[in-house]
Amino acid sequence: MPRSAQQTTLARPVIEEGIGLHTGSPAAVTLTPAEADSGIVIAVESGGEIPAHADWVVSTERATVLAGNGAEVRGVEHLLAALWAMGVDNARVVLRGPEVPACDGSARPWVDLIKRAGRRRLATPRTLYRIAEPIWVESNGSWAAVLPDERLNLGVAVDYPGSAAGAQALWMSLTGARFAAELAPARTFCLEREYQALLASGLAKGGSADNAFVVRPDGYSGELRFPDEVVRHKALDLVGDLALCGFRFIGQVIAVRPSHRLNVRLASALRERRSAGLRK
Ligand SMILES: [Zn+2]
Repeated sequence: MPRSAQQTTLARPVIEEGIGLHTGSPAAVTLTPAEADSGIVIAVESGGEIPAHADWVVSTERATVLAGNGAEVRGVEHLLAALWAMGVDNARVVLRGPEVPACDGSARPWVDLIKRAGRRRLATPRTLYRIAEPIWVESNGSWAAVLPDERLNLGVAVDYPGSAAGAQALWMSLTGARFAAELAPARTFCLEREYQALLASGLAKGGSADNAFVVRPDGYSGELRFPDEVVRHKALDLVGDLALCGFRFIGQVIAVRPSHRLNVRLASALRERRSAGLRK
């Protein structure tokens, strides 16, 4: 995570096109530079705009969905993870179509897009929130915490008994370079039994071997990018959802069996803790 003392934005506008994972509809994203203190704002074709904050999350079912101001966007977490981890503080995300393009199911295309845009420093200082006391949340046998630490570290553990993935854990110091190399390429996955249910419910219409893999009891639907791609993708989703706190912080993040619901709860708890501190 860049420790620059100044806020950043993108150096120039860039565009990525594809189809949405859940709807299968054509979708495109344009990333454009934005001024200091504007944060990440998502704009849709109809003219509505949503700040990328946990306060605007309306659903965490399979993907993180933001809605308000006449706009709704689905599946923003991989893009938000890339912007946050690659040190982009301010950007305008202009979306065409009902959801963010799935691309290859990972955050790698977003990392490449951000690299293509380049980063520009702004004159305004960046504030880095230092976690002073532990913050934790729970949800259905999952829990996540942020503990005081000198840098941003990430620990994630998952367990899928009865599947090829089994139990996996990951522990890393989160920098832009490590995110780009070790988390961003990890693709979306689902368990075999979930996959059938998803098809039946009409979701995952855009899902294919090009943007997701299936975890079976005895193996995977295709070749993996990492032997522990499952936990790496969960860590990627965690970073994207935590970006919804809307600021930068340093601390030790630990998540056991994370889900979008749990991650967004932690982002909300971070927002509450910080605003309570600012009121003192
Ligand atoms: Zn994901």
